Amino acid sequence: MSNQLSERINSLVPSATLEMAAKARELRASGKDIIGLSLGEPDFNTPDYIKEAAIQAINDGYNSYTPVDGYVELKDAIITKFKRDNNIAYERPQIVVSTGAKQALYNVAQACINKGDEVILPCPYWVSYSDIVKLSDGIPVEVETSIENDFKMTAEQLEAAITPKTKMLWYSSPCNPSGSIYSKEELRALADVLQKHPQIVVVSDEIYEHINYGVTPHASMAAFEDMYDRTVTVNGVAKAFAMTGWRIGYIGAPAHIARACNKLQGQVTSGANCIAQRAVITALLESPNRVQYMVDEFKNRRKLILELLNGIDGFKCNEPEGAFYVYPDVTAFFGKTLNGKTINNASDFAMYLLEEANVATVTGDAFGNGNSIRISYAASEDDIKEAISRIAQAVK
Ligand SMILES: *Cc1c(COP(=O)(O)O)cnc(C)c1O
Repeated sequence: MSNQLSERINSLVPSATLEMAAKARELRASGKDIIGLSLGEPDFNTPDYIKEAAIQAINDGYNSYTPVDGYVELKDAIITKFKRDNNIAYERPQIVVSTGAKQALYNVAQACINKGDEVILPCPYWVSYSDIVKLSDGIPVEVETSIENDFKMTAEQLEAAITPKTKMLWYSSPCNPSGSIYSKEELRALADVLQKHPQIVVVSDEIYEHINYGVTPHASMAAFEDMYDRTVTVNGVAKAFAMTGWRIGYIGAPAHIARACNKLQGQVTSGANCIAQRAVITALLESPNRVQYMVDEFKNRRKLILELLNGIDGFKCNEPEGAFYVYPDVTAFFGKTLNGKTINNASDFAMYLLEEANVATVTGDAFGNGNSIRISYAASEDDIKEAISRIAQAVK
């Protein structure tokens, strides 16, 4: 009975990455040997020193509601982290801890967007940005980028996309899905454009900050003095600390935006999980070097998957500088018929790979860029080798 449901929910599309994972699970349950390279999830265990902090917290009796915006000790750990890693000075009223970076982003959207406000999203963007913006009655304004420019938006493109209705700019760096990283100079060029448009708030999603392969150092928009007052820095522990299921993300923001997120969260979910919050204090206060072993491993896998993909005709890859995805341009296959199936677009291609190669990937359409597919290399080397060899076979 769809008329019992709101227009809001009827027009919302399910998360394409979660949907692909569900489809892969279904095929697996029916006996197919599917290799899943669709989900953005580290295949590592949460490090022991973080698990021990959680066990300690349980034994210490942390079981009550937490402050809505997070334990003070956690907010202080986040403040220390922002200063240490990003050279951004935040104070307690500027920090809000949420149930994952996803909730943090949703809070910010709800707090800042009015009906009809435009939000600039350089494509490809993280899968949920556009739907979170739409849920908040905003209008996503997609800015096309290309593999030639390493999937990054230029200052000229930003300038051209701005209208009197532009309210926000959202991007992730390192980028999910492309792995691209905006250098400090590139961010400065975008900031220079924004100086002419003081109404625009920037959301800088830095959740892959530590998964950086050392070519372009991480840079934060809020570290520029003239951007500090209108930038929301989003981060979390899911990716770098292999803690996706613990569900802790956070923002550093201008105090009035943080206050608004706190107010919203207080009516919707209250504070994030108490045990996970205690564990994240340890995760953030320890040196990020302690999780470097995972980054080193991802770096080996990146090399492997790029070598293998570049050996297949029709796959054109950029070299991702961070995160754990490759985002090959597959337009060479469009219009072709493979094993009796016609490939018209990236969605057809991802579906073809699922059905013919038993490999789950994600169509670029989910990220606002229909020329590519996203392949996660957060998987074992054996799985990567087997998956790419199956793909090579299927597209011959
Ligand atoms: C995974 C991811 C998130 C969501 O992180 P959670 O803390 O798991 O909610 C947000 N942004 C990007 C770019 C991501 O890849």
